[in-house]
Amino acid sequence: MANKVVALTIAGFDPSGGAGIIADIKTFIAFGWLPAAVITSLTFQNSQGVFGALHQTAESVRDQLLPIVEEFQVASLKIGMLPTREVVIKVAQLIRELNLPAPVVDPVCRSTSGYELVERDAIQALVSELMPLARLITPNIPEAERLTGITIDDEKQMRAAARKLREMGASTVLIKGGHLKQTSVSGNQEVTSSTLREGSRQAVDILDDEGRVTVVRGEWINYPPMRGTGCILSSAIAACLGNELSMEEAIRAAKEFVSDTIRKSASAS
Ligand code: PLP
Repeated sequence: MANKVVALTIAGFDPSGGAGIIADIKTFIAFGWLPAAVITSLTFQNSQGVFGALHQTAESVRDQLLPIVEEFQVASLKIGMLPTREVVIKVAQLIRELNLPAPVVDPVCRSTSGYELVERDAIQALVSELMPLARLITPNIPEAERLTGITIDDEKQMRAAARKLREMGASTVLIKGGHLKQTSVSGNQEVTSSTLREGSRQAVDILDDEGRVTVVRGEWINYPPMRGTGCILSSAIAACLGNELSMEEAIRAAKEFVSDTIRKSASAS
């Protein structure tokens, strides 16, 4: 009998469901995938903030993953919060040894409320061990600044940071411009989201795919602010890549999905 095919997230658990694994699973299901999940950290949080976290060990991460790969075929992989150096190293080792698909990596560092979700040396290990294995990494601007040391105030600096991340070992980088104060764009090739309305504030992301730079524009609609949008975007991209979309198609579809999710959450509140 053929194994069941799943989309897997290896990420932090936010019991309140705003971010992390619950957001990833909801996204996988929306794109038609059977979800599976490995918890890297049990966090304590709600919409007001993060109050603490109980990080998993490398062994418990491995012990969660092995039964999943024994029974299921992992066709799509998203990686989120990896709290410690030992967990990062174990996840990279397991991806290699178990021949898991090249992951979409969301290099989660800090919550919007300012809580440090991962230890400092976990970030160094993420760069050296995991980034070279990734199909795509999806830092937001504060994460890209932290990973590269480049201060990002405009699109030119986004491009420079994306290039530096490739030089540091990533093959493909999507820097999400939602945190950029002004969005003046002088793009090469452009992808315009169908949700874009003239005159509206834009969300401008930079995709650097092995040196081919694409400006991905969408309408900036994160109002009222919603948590977990980075988690949703990266798991949606992983889901779409697993559905054999090209990188650009996957990013465009994922951005539309995030916009729709924000709109729905705004109209529900
Ligand atoms: N908690 C977990 C487990 C996360 O993975 C993340 C972000 O990826 C957050 C919290 C922070 O999310 P936000 O900044 O949207 O609140």
